[in-house]
Amino acid sequence: MIAKISELVPLGPLHNPAHLKGIEVGLELLSDVPHVAVFDTAFFQDLPEEAARYALKRDVADQYSIRRYGAHGTSHQFVSGEVSRMLGRDDLKQIVLHLGNGASASAVVAGHAVDTSMGLTPLEGLVMGGRTGDIDPAAVFHLARVAGMSADEIDYLFNRESGMKGLAGDNDMREVWKRIDAGEQNARDAMDIYLHRLVKYVGAYTAVMGGLDALTFTAGIGENDSRLRSELIERLGFMGVQLDADKNAVRSGDGRIISTPDSAIAVLVYPTNEELAIARQAMTLV
Ligand code: AMP
Repeated sequence: MIAKISELVPLGPLHNPAHLKGIEVGLELLSDVPHVAVFDTAFFQDLPEEAARYALKRDVADQYSIRRYGAHGTSHQFVSGEVSRMLGRDDLKQIVLHLGNGASASAVVAGHAVDTSMGLTPLEGLVMGGRTGDIDPAAVFHLARVAGMSADEIDYLFNRESGMKGLAGDNDMREVWKRIDAGEQNARDAMDIYLHRLVKYVGAYTAVMGGLDALTFTAGIGENDSRLRSELIERLGFMGVQLDADKNAVRSGDGRIISTPDSAIAVLVYPTNEELAIARQAMTLV
């Protein structure tokens, strides 16, 4: 959704009151310029029902607005659009891996998102800097019943103290690689868990789309971590995808193809630019 602030109506129970307060303050400070809100979930608002709806009892899910909203939508929309332009095709089946401290994957067909890894909140999906990503919700019941933890404590544990931080001791991938090179088994295991989750999502989304034309890395890790890209693509070799090692090693702020010409799937690095994407969307309204 993009909306003029003047047209903004209360957006349901999940919207953080602090954000709405921030919008109010912004309105007061800049009262003489048009205001536009761009929601980071917007790209995923038209997800197919089969991807957006959890298999949760329908009336409870509807009453409490529990569905998959996704996040990082501004980035996924921008990057998939740029890749489509770069490859000169608007019919692409794409996977975008936004790998930063928060991390998410999206499946995009001909410019429309058909699935994404974040859900009701950004907790679901990939292993992240401090978030678990996918975990059996029964772990919550278990921790509440057996460890006596409160909802807030479990929330903090899952969102802040887990992921690479909880597994390897650090949420920064550069530090995780240093620990791997120093022989720390926990760090190597953490990387393998991170990569395993990525392989599962790439495989699942390829199946959902019935094929894959382009796989793109973006955000802090996706844009900068050539070693992680190389290890992931190696695990996806069965799909006929091949990385050009020299192109993968280049450090650049430009969007670029890093696969070989005969790779079955184009692999790209494309720097995300959420500010530009927000500005472009705002321009369509003012
Ligand atoms: P972001 O949330 O997109 O700003 O990404 C931040 C994350 O990118 C950091 O926590 C690091 O894990 C990762 N990162 C940044 N630079 C590098 C690099 N050169 N190699 C590996 N990871 C990096």
